Amino acid sequence: MENIETAPFWETKTLEELTQSEWEALCDGCGLCCLHRIQDEDDDAIYLTRVACHCYDIAAHACSDYANRHERVEGCMKLTLERVEEFDWLPESCAYRLRHQGRAIPSWHPLITKDPATVHPHGMHALNPILEKDEIDLEDYIID
Ligand code: SF4
Ligand code: SF4
Repeated sequence: MENIETAPFWETKTLEELTQSEWEALCDGCGLCCLHRIQDEDDDAIYLTRVACHCYDIAAHACSDYANRHERVEGCMKLTLERVEEFDWLPESCAYRLRHQGRAIPSWHPLITKDPATVHPHGMHALNPILEKDEIDLEDYIID
């Protein structure tokens, strides 16, 4: 059995117990939360599209203005402990959602592999994303 004192924080700590740097490190960088979703007016079902926020840098695999993201983009949600009950809109693989549910993060998470690239087959880039533009109709880009 693993010694709890040597076990990593992502296995032993709850979200409430994380330091700020641990909280930041929990993000795997998948980018899935930067893809647009649309909600069906009839049944409230939420559909993921492969259209990325206009502020996302697809080549760099990251937000192009992370420090100012909430000022730049109205719908960019800040993930905080206070909003933990809203985490169910995040992808099922999101480490914040998983830890909120008391579940383990996936084996390909960069915290485990020590390689940021191991997320790519599981993140936004596996979905062939395009950047948001005015003329785009999100319904045309819903992912099955
Ligand atoms: S979905 Fe979760 S793990 Fe992926 S980039 Fe967004 S916050 Fe980070
Ligand atoms: S502002 Fe940045 S972090 Fe926020 S949704 Fe857009 S690309 Fe993602």
